[in-house]
Amino acid sequence: MNQRLTIALTKGRILKETLPLLASAGIAPVDDIDSSRKLVFETTHPAVRLVIIRGSDVPTYVRHGAADMGVVGKDILLEHGAEGLYEPLDLGIARCRLMTAGPVGWRSTGARIRVATKFVNIARRHFAGRGVHADVIKLYGAMELAPIMNLADLIVDIVDTGNTLRANGMEPLEEIASISSRLVVNKAAMRSRHAIIQRVIDDLAAAVPQA
Ligand code: AMP
Repeated sequence: MNQRLTIALTKGRILKETLPLLASAGIAPVDDIDSSRKLVFETTHPAVRLVIIRGSDVPTYVRHGAADMGVVGKDILLEHGAEGLYEPLDLGIARCRLMTAGPVGWRSTGARIRVATKFVNIARRHFAGRGVHADVIKLYGAMELAPIMNLADLIVDIVDTGNTLRANGMEPLEEIASISSRLVVNKAAMRSRHAIIQRVIDDLAAAVPQA
């Protein structure tokens, strides 16, 4: 039986902030992740390997047990659901806000609004909770283009500095959720491999920057 622990990491900006935390827990990739085209990395910890994948795939790998643990943005967990997963630790990294945003000075006029986003489930829940009729339009990127092109009235998107919104004549309106990256753990693995998983959780918790 393979006793090794597999941790699924979200590539991109989250990965850059995850690696120092893992290093504090004694887990560092042996190959240079930036220059390698590999997807699976051995680490300095003999019992741990890393897989580097898209954030939206991390919960799937962990839920099915193809990875024992993962690091993923709370936005992905809110959008795709977190059933089958424990979420034992807020890593406090890649902090940002999930917000509604619109053209500067925009005011609602009609009974319905059109909302462009890649977070369709979050957007539907948000507007339904306010009793607002929203036609939610799924996009895969560049949400801030949608109001400019009159595809939508508002967007739901991640905001960090707000520079992307400002550069496109938009302003943040309402915060839906405060986002950071979370450690997720497969529920069956948490029971069957408790000792090693709890050790990694404790080591990461000790390395997390205090808010
Ligand atoms: P900003 O211009 O600093 O407000 O950044 C906004 C854009 O950067 C968003 O459209 C996101 O795609 C991306 N972004 C910023 N922070 C994060 C994060 N923590 N996780 C994922 N995407 C982010």
